[in-house]
Amino acid sequence: MIETFCLIYGQEHGWERKKARDELIRQHESNARQYPLQAMMTLWEELHWRWWEELHATQREFMADMGVDHTTKDDLKFYGMAQNSTGGTKFQFPTTFQLSNPDAYYSTVVLKRVERRYDNAMWDIVNKYHSTTPKQKARARAGEVAKAKPEDGKTKGSPPKAKETKAKTPAKTPKRPKAPVDAGAKAGAATTYPAGARLSSTEASTSTKQSPKHDNKLMCWDHSCHSGCKHGAECRSSHKQIASMSGLHWTVQAQLVKRGGLASQSLIPIDQIDSRVSAMRKQAQADLASKKQPRAAGASEAEEKAE
Ligand SMILES: [Zn+2]
Repeated sequence: MIETFCLIYGQEHGWERKKARDELIRQHESNARQYPLQAMMTLWEELHWRWWEELHATQREFMADMGVDHTTKDDLKFYGMAQNSTGGTKFQFPTTFQLSNPDAYYSTVVLKRVERRYDNAMWDIVNKYHSTTPKQKARARAGEVAKAKPEDGKTKGSPPKAKETKAKTPAKTPKRPKAPVDAGAKAGAATTYPAGARLSSTEASTSTKQSPKHDNKLMCWDHSCHSGCKHGAECRSSHKQIASMSGLHWTVQAQLVKRGGLASQSLIPIDQIDSRVSAMRKQAQADLASKKQPRAAGASEAEEKAE
């Protein structure tokens, strides 16, 4: 291809094309992953296209300088051969094939483009990784559960349910407004909470006894958690938000975990609930056995896990 080009346009075009070609081959052979063959071939074509573009641009520039709309080859030659400010000729061939020239197309456009693509791809990976938190995964799963059994008798699809609640209690529910998707996932999720294995009857009664209170009413676990409370304004428990797990008895923490954890914290995926509760139970038993720091240690560790 280079030979053909040189036969038509002159041997003086050969050296830089051969050099560029060899450099591209060398790059591909040094790292085929970074410089795949197809990309190198496409780039080679691009360089040829660009070379002609730069040549045309020079021609247009000359014609603008000469102040003419039409020009002859002789005129162009005469103007191009005139001296420029640095002692060379006005006309210079495009530098497109000079891969190591920092002012040439390859360095200013191609390399920059590759860097940009690399950056974008890396950031996409990074952001994608961070956007699929356990919370989102669990939400997606909860949504699937809701979709999976839409005709459940008790629990119809979430949108009609939301309407019913609204109809019954029109003005009483000025609760925190959330995105519709979220609300849907929550309504679907409500059918599955409290999730995980049941607590023993002793643990359950302990959790009720130990539960934090507000205005002499138990603080509603459902309301404070991702599960949400289906009773809304008619709930008999206090809907004051439980601010933190720390300091709560482990059975209360377990109840909150079984409801997806505090709404102010990350959602605990359903498939992690049992393991967390049993870890808390083990910790409590260990604390009881050692009697060193009965509560504080267990609470702080469970808190850590809940994070
Ligand atoms: Zn409630």
